[in-house]
Amino acid sequence: MKFGAHVSASGGVSNAPLNAAALDLECFQFFSRPPQGSRVGPIPKDEIAKFRKACETSGFDKCYIHAPYIINLASKEERIRASSIEILRGELERGTLLGVTAMMFHPGSASGVGEEAGVKLVIGGIKKILKGYAGTARLLIEISAGAGMVMGDTFEEVGAMLDGVDNEMLGVCFDTAHAFASGYDLRDTEAVTKTMKAFDKAIGLKKLELSHCNDSKVDIGEHKDRHEHLGKGFIGKKGFEAIVTSKAFSNVNLILETPPDHVAEDLAILKKLRGKNK
Ligand SMILES: [Zn+2]
Ligand SMILES: [Zn+2]
Repeated sequence: MKFGAHVSASGGVSNAPLNAAALDLECFQFFSRPPQGSRVGPIPKDEIAKFRKACETSGFDKCYIHAPYIINLASKEERIRASSIEILRGELERGTLLGVTAMMFHPGSASGVGEEAGVKLVIGGIKKILKGYAGTARLLIEISAGAGMVMGDTFEEVGAMLDGVDNEMLGVCFDTAHAFASGYDLRDTEAVTKTMKAFDKAIGLKKLELSHCNDSKVDIGEHKDRHEHLGKGFIGKKGFEAIVTSKAFSNVNLILETPPDHVAEDLAILKKLRGKNK
């Protein structure tokens, strides 16, 4: 279990590993392009070399890209689905060039098509993204907080997507705050055990490749995506102790997505919990 955080890549992707090293992280996540969209050109060759060199120098062997937020594989508009597929495939290719471990994305909202059709569209979209893909960066579906018709808020739904796609390159990125807001309890050891048992049944623990590690500003089942610093939200420190010590998470890296001003503090909390339980 490595601890990391989402870091800025502004000024060039090679700044991400430098920022991660400055924060004393063990792994990291970044946007390889503006998260709200806009077209981008290829990453310059010297940026790729600088990124790889910085990872090597700082000993980072695991890093992750978060896909742009504009993705919607379940849109009723063919144009939006097509551009989402193109962007996600592009991010996988960019990730491969950079030596990134995996890229996670939010499947989208089924508000225009209904949930059942939405799952089918997501499955079809992911199949297209992975068609002929020979890269090394893996693709991860992120568990969502499930506001409105946002897809991926139940383990069963995510399990259905994985089953439907049936491709080894596809896995899951858990997000503690999103799962909690979707109704999965994580507040103590008993709750984490029960939640991860449900995950195993519906998805399979071997598909759990990464977790975002955020406390939640909203209470369980409120279906809102509001990250809070560890121990300051409704999951609480006891919950994070249960997660850090849980068998289900023992081979899973944790990425903080809490506001950047307190990443050092949140990282210290995680390291302390791990140390205490060694
Ligand atoms: Zn996310
Ligand atoms: Zn997340």
